[in-house]
Amino acid sequence: MSFVHPTKAPLPHRTDTVIIGGGVIGLSIAYQLAKRGLSDLVVLEKGYLASGASGRNGGGIRQQWSTEVNIRLMLESVALCKEFAKELRVNIWFRQGGYLFLSRSEAETERLEKNVRLQNRCGVPTRLISPQEAREIVPELETSGFHAACYNPTDGVLFPWPFLWGYAQGATARGAKLFTFTPVAAIDVEEGGYLVHTSRGSIHARRVVNAAGAWSPQVAAMVGVALPDYPVRHEICSSEPLKPFLKPMVSVLSTGLYFSQSMRGEIIGGVTLHGDRPTLNMGSRLKFLATYSRQICKIMPCLSELKILRQWAGPYDITEDGNPILGEPPGRPGFYLCCGFMGHGFMMAPVIGKYYAEWLTGGPRHEIFDRCLLQRFDQGGIEKEDFIIG
Ligand SMILES: Cc1cc2nc3c(=O)[nH]c(=O)nc-3n(C[C@H](O)[C@H](O)[C@H](O)COP(=O)(O)OP(=O)(O)OC[C@H]3O[C@@H](n4cnc5c(N)ncnc54)[C@H](O)[C@@H]3O)c2cc1C
Repeated sequence: MSFVHPTKAPLPHRTDTVIIGGGVIGLSIAYQLAKRGLSDLVVLEKGYLASGASGRNGGGIRQQWSTEVNIRLMLESVALCKEFAKELRVNIWFRQGGYLFLSRSEAETERLEKNVRLQNRCGVPTRLISPQEAREIVPELETSGFHAACYNPTDGVLFPWPFLWGYAQGATARGAKLFTFTPVAAIDVEEGGYLVHTSRGSIHARRVVNAAGAWSPQVAAMVGVALPDYPVRHEICSSEPLKPFLKPMVSVLSTGLYFSQSMRGEIIGGVTLHGDRPTLNMGSRLKFLATYSRQICKIMPCLSELKILRQWAGPYDITEDGNPILGEPPGRPGFYLCCGFMGHGFMMAPVIGKYYAEWLTGGPRHEIFDRCLLQRFDQGGIEKEDFIIG
């Protein structure tokens, strides 16, 4: 790894672009900018790489969405994931075993049907199937009480950490500077840019990208911008490894239960706990473990003796319409937002990073940057993405 060592390298006084947040979003943008020749850039991360949501997620990568824009973005993101190892020389353990969503009612099935039609139109081979057909894909499933399912074989899972390491390595190899354990404490708005104050000194930048995930409202507030996204804790756990037997990521719509088997054999999964208030608390709770165990054993009785080895939590960065917040807020030219990615920022990072970098290096501006502006919340909004798990 060719990282700038966090404790030894001095912070430069000036740079073209500062990216705040060394999660998958910040690092993907950094890599894509550096790849396009913009290497005069600095990434500032308050902790270690993957300390935020990016190091705490389920690694799910899917094209099953309810809005056309997300389906098309994810078609492209999956293609980028497939190229990742070749391009960045890091194995991300990407496995396309599909995603299987299970519905318990007619209303849920109607939702799936509508999504499947849209996904098929966009070129995603999702199929609406019966519970019996779902058992052909996962023979261990207890399907009584299920109404229908949908399955797309080209969705998959990957191991999140190497993904960040690959982007970090790719960006720094091309000249980007990455500082971990360097929190941004304040930002002054200056003529022609921003003065970013950190624990290791201050740096002037023509442009700042706010990729601070669940902490993005705090960072935006430093330049007087109020963001409507907020953090909600999501818990997840990992089991002892089992011989590979489970192909797809399985998810139950009514409970928000999801689980998959990693390439190392662990069963990794979570479930929705309703009624949580916004918090950046990432503590783990017994309540989660009890709910998850009950739900997973109900539909996979064969897992009832399974031992859970590790439990943790991370923040979903929530927006009310399920879409991210992108582009420049009013009155703050050169201050770019890239946050509000809910529970799907990991899978979106490759394509979002690519389009952000294209735009910031003078290329075309993808329509998503107009759709997902902060201003939409005061201007009637945009189509809601409602196919969120967890
Ligand atoms: C339990 C769980 C399961 C999930 N499952 C999936 C999934 O299967 N698939 C998927 O695509 N997504 C999933 N997600 C969502 C996904 O993890 C996030 O959307 C994504 O990681 C967001 O990336 P980010 O870079 O915006 O945020 P983060 O990874 O949180 O990065 C933001 C970074 O900014 C840093 N930072 C904050 N403030 C400052 C500051 N003042 N100065 C410097 N640095 C700062 C933080 O330390 C952090 O590292 C899941 C999330 C959770 C919690």
